[in-house]
Amino acid sequence: MELYDIHTHQILLEDNDDPYHSCILDVYPLEFEVAKESYNRHSFSCGIHPWHAEDSENQMLYLAEIASDPRIIAIGETGLDKLKGPSYDLQIPVFKKHIELSENLGKPVIVHCVKAWDELIRVYKETNPTQPWIIHGFRGKPELAKHLVKEGFLFSFGEDINVESMQFIPTKSMFCETDDAEMDIREIYLQAAQALDMELEAFAKIVAENVYRVFPTLEHPPLPYDPKLDEEEDD
Ligand SMILES: [Zn+2]
Repeated sequence: MELYDIHTHQILLEDNDDPYHSCILDVYPLEFEVAKESYNRHSFSCGIHPWHAEDSENQMLYLAEIASDPRIIAIGETGLDKLKGPSYDLQIPVFKKHIELSENLGKPVIVHCVKAWDELIRVYKETNPTQPWIIHGFRGKPELAKHLVKEGFLFSFGEDINVESMQFIPTKSMFCETDDAEMDIREIYLQAAQALDMELEAFAKIVAENVYRVFPTLEHPPLPYDPKLDEEEDD
């Protein structure tokens, strides 16, 4: 069973070699070169968080240089935050530069959005993207979930979820992530599966299909899960 973590800021040592636990590690543009040597089997998302949109010209220039690297499979996290960071006047232009890169390179966007849903939808409609936008750490209310589903957004669930909202989101739009949580990716999958009243394995299979559909350049893990092998090891 594969447990893909589509948004994390850390890869624990014990997870680095586990072929069933692959990650999209979120890095700043200037961290990428070192990170890509350290984590051979993982992929990256690269961008500038809206909290740090101010004075991000150098990072942004460097991002434009490296974003075509095949190890970078998503642009972000980027987005809008009403509670933290500089004003929208600064956040929106930086966000839009990420969108431009995403469209030019054909790579999905990992979206951070806090209390800025109207603005987000406005930018979405204005830029009319062809690439998927995945709202990471989604825990909004059902009305918001329904609205975002209708607009075509995708969703990634982490430690905090809104169980009721999840009922309104199609499973083909779902992903899981650890972000910067202490919670293990397996517990996060389990929590989401339980919220949907699904078996962990069935849910994980759907998410893996979503991952390979939205990130088609990803290689499948080296071995399929075979419970018999586990049993043999236990003997
Ligand atoms: Zn994050």
